[in-house]
Amino acid sequence: MSEEPRVAIVTGAARGIGAATARRLAADGLTVAVVDLDESATEQTVAGIVAAGGRALGVAADVADRARVAAAVDRVAAELGPPTVLVNNAGVLRDNLLFKMTDADWDTVLGVHLRGAFLFSQAAQRHMVEQRWGRIVNLSSTSALGNRGQANYAAAKAGLQGFTKTLAIELGPFGVTVNAVAPGFIVTDMTAATAARMKVDFAELQKHTESTIPVRRVGRPDDVAHTISFLVSEGASFVSGQVVYVAGGPQD
Ligand code: NAP
Repeated sequence: MSEEPRVAIVTGAARGIGAATARRLAADGLTVAVVDLDESATEQTVAGIVAAGGRALGVAADVADRARVAAAVDRVAAELGPPTVLVNNAGVLRDNLLFKMTDADWDTVLGVHLRGAFLFSQAAQRHMVEQRWGRIVNLSSTSALGNRGQANYAAAKAGLQGFTKTLAIELGPFGVTVNAVAPGFIVTDMTAATAARMKVDFAELQKHTESTIPVRRVGRPDDVAHTISFLVSEGASFVSGQVVYVAGGPQD
């Protein structure tokens, strides 16, 4: 363990899985940069971490914008220290059946998930390689295996699995591990929005989904945060290039 706390960047950490991950990594003793589109949106996550005795900084960045990403990583390095842990979590949905999917639906989803992970990983890896230590975790999804109405999202989440394995090969020699976490149904604003779009009651959707999951419950953001906590830990240095499904049962 280094003397200074490790510095982690968690993107899309204003709410949902990203916020839970930021809180968990701070509780684990890391200093956390809470990145989201709007700095004011990060305030609640940052305040929660600080109130619990942790150290956090809110940073605004659109993950799909190269200049903003570079500025965010530079700011984190200057104010907190070299970021050697990166969780590429920011995400959006633009669900539509293929015949109705617009270029904007496609480009937005690929831009945030795939380009976002590319830009943040590229900017942060410089610090990890310099330190000869690093951890990158990318948020994939069970939708990578195919999901009606999500051609864009499934392509992005499957793409992130190939991206993860490739970075694991390239960065492994520098002490950097790269893994993906692929959640199933997790209760967040994202799944609530899906219920609203499907015009079904969110509680009803959760109840129905529970019956299809082997452990007979839906997931919580902390389930994903717990897995990420393990993957970025010091002791996980021999786990790289993996896709860990956090879905309450096996996936095809
Ligand atoms: P969420 O509640 O919708 O939170 C996503 C966060 O990402 C929001 O704070 C959002 O900010 C932020 N964000 C969106 N676009 C961004 C951009 N361009 N730059 C920076 N931040 C941006 O989603 P979640 O359910 O926690 O999901 C987190 C990740 O897990 C996503 O990658 C998602 O695809 C993945 N995942 C979720 C589930 C699930 O069941 N919930 C399952 C599998 C995978 P705004 O609020 O400003 O939009």
